Amino acid sequence: MLKKHSMKVSLGCVISCLMFAFSCTKVNQPLSKKNMDNQENLHNPHYSRTDKNIVHLPNTVWKRILKPELYHIAREAGTEMPFTGKYNEFDEKGDYYCASCGNHLFKSTAKFASSCGWPSFFEADKNGVKYRKDISHGMDRIEVLCKRCDAHLGHVFNDGPPPTGVRFCMNSISLDFEPEK
Ligand code: FE
Repeated sequence: MLKKHSMKVSLGCVISCLMFAFSCTKVNQPLSKKNMDNQENLHNPHYSRTDKNIVHLPNTVWKRILKPELYHIAREAGTEMPFTGKYNEFDEKGDYYCASCGNHLFKSTAKFASSCGWPSFFEADKNGVKYRKDISHGMDRIEVLCKRCDAHLGHVFNDGPPPTGVRFCMNSISLDFEPEK
């Protein structure tokens, strides 16, 4: 009887110790890179700053790997509200990449204060962007897309400053910024 009781006590003690040890392990375990990605962005395996291969994915896949606000702009040609984007009033030195795929798009040296409410550039990386006629919303415009993944970035207009005279009017959400080192 005494032996049975002490076995029960020891078993209970072992289970308690294991549960305590497991809970401590969980608390102290560092977040993996994947987990950290998931805190800010969904995990996007197609994002690369070096891979130049074309990314061709159905929107069902993009919907899974992009944040909803980026999916709306990049894959549904949405437009963020003017004066709300994080790169609108922003003049740090560095480079801008496609937020969907990591393709290089603009240099900060081509950014200018346009006062239109969206980040504006007078020049794009010619290997970064491509163009498409856009007659939506009763307007005749030229849409700017990422050359690697076809993400909608914004539009380009002929009212920019020298030396090019053009204004790439971009959505901040479609851009990723990397400061100069
Ligand atoms: Fe892209």
